Amino acid sequence: MSQPITMQAGKLLTPDIPQIPYIQGDGIGPEIWAAARLVFDAAVKKAYAGKRQVDWLPLQAGEAAFADTGKWLPEETVATLKSHLVAIKGPFTTPVGEGHRSINVTLRQMLDLYACYRPVQYFAGTPAPVVHPEYVNIDVFRENTEDIYAGIEAAAGTQEANAWLALLASQNQLSKVRFPNSSAFSIKPVSSEGSRRLVHAAIAHALQHGRHHVTLVHKGNIMKQTEGGFKRWGYQEAQESFADQTFTMAEYNRIQKEEGKAAADQALTAAKHAHKVIVDDIICDNFFQQALLHAENFEVVATMNLNGDYISDALAAQVGGIGIAPGANINYDNGRAIFEATHGTAPQFAGQDKMNPTSLILSGAMLFDYVGWPEAADLIRSGIGNAIKSHHVTVDFATDAKATVLGTHGFGEYVAKNL
Ligand code: NAD
Repeated sequence: MSQPITMQAGKLLTPDIPQIPYIQGDGIGPEIWAAARLVFDAAVKKAYAGKRQVDWLPLQAGEAAFADTGKWLPEETVATLKSHLVAIKGPFTTPVGEGHRSINVTLRQMLDLYACYRPVQYFAGTPAPVVHPEYVNIDVFRENTEDIYAGIEAAAGTQEANAWLALLASQNQLSKVRFPNSSAFSIKPVSSEGSRRLVHAAIAHALQHGRHHVTLVHKGNIMKQTEGGFKRWGYQEAQESFADQTFTMAEYNRIQKEEGKAAADQALTAAKHAHKVIVDDIICDNFFQQALLHAENFEVVATMNLNGDYISDALAAQVGGIGIAPGANINYDNGRAIFEATHGTAPQFAGQDKMNPTSLILSGAMLFDYVGWPEAADLIRSGIGNAIKSHHVTVDFATDAKATVLGTHGFGEYVAKNL
């Protein structure tokens, strides 16, 4: 009998036949899901010789749910995601500038999935636009519940916008708005709690996975309170919660000021020898430059919501594109997690059996790692590696004469047979 995954005393308990909800998503979602599922079931079967198996539980959200129920995100779907802790999903359509709010953002906020974890690594043989894509091996931790994504907005010329203008006038800030009468507004809340729990997750991840460098990426030179706050609170979290396991550049700067550069350098070298996690920070624009020029200098990156959105797509492009980039949205306190393809619905390709299901397949590998089935996860990753190395790829990776071009389903079948 299948059962949901539960959490007890801070640990996930995964039965041998867990019930794991999935949402196919919109656009290319159903076809990439069908291909990914073939791989998941084959990997579990091979890893555990029939002793374990997933009971996949279909849930509705997005366009299919709207057509059936008139709701983009039915209450039962949210309730099941809450009760079953761990789920996987395809992409959802999000209209720009009008229509319903992003279902992804709503889910992340409703379930308080505060850490968006996106590992970006290179698979040998993947066509990539940079000379050394293999230098990219970066785990991105993006804050997932605040920042400009909070959705507090006022359209230009509305009553709300006028109320905000009045508030600004009362704070003597109105002169900072260049064109008050035609301005729209968005509010960017960034808190110490939100920043600290995200940075905590990034440092804990580094410690668990033998990584020794966490970089806080921010634009604190311009947004001194929000992005600058993220940096300050991040350093505070490292120093207060991981005092013996980290060395921060805030600490380095303090030593340099009080005892000089030689003493600060010595403390940094000693921390490296002691295999402490070095926590530093970088301004976002410089990060984009450095990640292209010296990707090998970064291991774990912790950042806010909007920066993280841009950063994870840019890094994914360096290793071959968003068709291959997996992701997870996690609340490490209550165990809830939704694993997802990081790309969108690619509507112009929907129903053509052409798109690459690798992003969702690798998200499934992350899911199996998360629920304590690493053998299945490793098989999935090696299956993807084998397919790419032997040039059995979908059209987006078919850049030379050696390629055998497979459809979405055919690629799933090939990987499932070559784990
Ligand atoms: P997109 O990611 O859907 O597609 C951009 C381009 O990337 C495509 O034209 C295609 O060339 C390529 N691509 C995407 N997925 C691919 C795959 N699996 N294999 C190979 N190539 C792939 O982004 P978009 O066109 O900007 O957005 C389309 C819709 O998806 C919008 O409604 C957007 O809001 C939504 N979206 C959803 C998510 C999500 O649900 N997580 C994320 C991003 C965008």
